[in-house]
Amino acid sequence: MVRKIALEEHFLAPGLVPHWEPTVAGIPDAVVARLRRQLTDFDDERLRTMDEAGVSRAILSLAGPGVQAEPDAGRAVDLAAAANDFLAAQISRHPTRYGGFAHLPMQNPKAAADELERCVRELGMQGAMIDGQTHGQYLDEPRNDVFWERVQALDVPIYLHPADPEAEYAGFRGQPKLKRATWEWTVETATHALRLVFAGTFEKFPGAKLVLGHLGETLPYLLWRFDSRVSALYGLSEQMKHLPSFYIRRNIALTTSGMCSAEPLRCAIDAMGADSVMFSVDYPFEDSEVAREFMDTTPLDAALRERIAHGNAERLLKLT
Ligand code: MN
Repeated sequence: MVRKIALEEHFLAPGLVPHWEPTVAGIPDAVVARLRRQLTDFDDERLRTMDEAGVSRAILSLAGPGVQAEPDAGRAVDLAAAANDFLAAQISRHPTRYGGFAHLPMQNPKAAADELERCVRELGMQGAMIDGQTHGQYLDEPRNDVFWERVQALDVPIYLHPADPEAEYAGFRGQPKLKRATWEWTVETATHALRLVFAGTFEKFPGAKLVLGHLGETLPYLLWRFDSRVSALYGLSEQMKHLPSFYIRRNIALTTSGMCSAEPLRCAIDAMGADSVMFSVDYPFEDSEVAREFMDTTPLDAALRERIAHGNAERLLKLT
């Protein structure tokens, strides 16, 4: 069994349970009860599950959307700080087994930058996780420059996690099973990442690093097409001095969260490079044993398996 580091592993903080509950509406009570138990445990089932899957360390992040769904921006700042203090206290009880991604009040980009800095410098966290758009605001908008400037200075990755779009796309009308994790979140999250490429965020902040789950939300498969459309229709510009694939390869890394399939893994490695792909589970929403079996047995040479299972994460997250 290869040793693994996992970086899309979730928990719930006491003050943010009401923000999470709408995301499990319509799911059977027994499943919600199991998720709630697993998300609030840091000692027994979580560590046992990690041991059984060979996960030496899990970087924990709040189960979204957390304060990003909070209508009161001031309260979002306070609730995020409390959630981060709670996470830091849990990590300090198992410092070799856990790390943390900060939870940030993106309603206020300056406050989010300050909180990121506090979490990295004072609480020892490895970066942050952001759950999609915040009340219709996307991360490429100029108001977030103050945030990206700090991300680049701190040299920590931002994990862009799927969340609902602000409004429903008409194509999902009458097809509720296509919504959320089936397809809707892929479209929304891939679009959000492409906004950062096309708006020039990565041109302005070349050191910024974004992490996407689900083996890149389809982006690795589509690199040639993005380049071809920009070349044929728009040309390069001040915002995009290079073709999209340049920024996607340079500024984005991927995890295998919720994607236990050899063919897209092969595509991700070939398209993005072997340094850009990292193992993750998405505990407790995905099955740790399925993820373990995939990482241990998918066709890869031994050295590459070690890089994807833990080596790339150790380098990107500066884990020692
Ligand atoms: Mn997740």
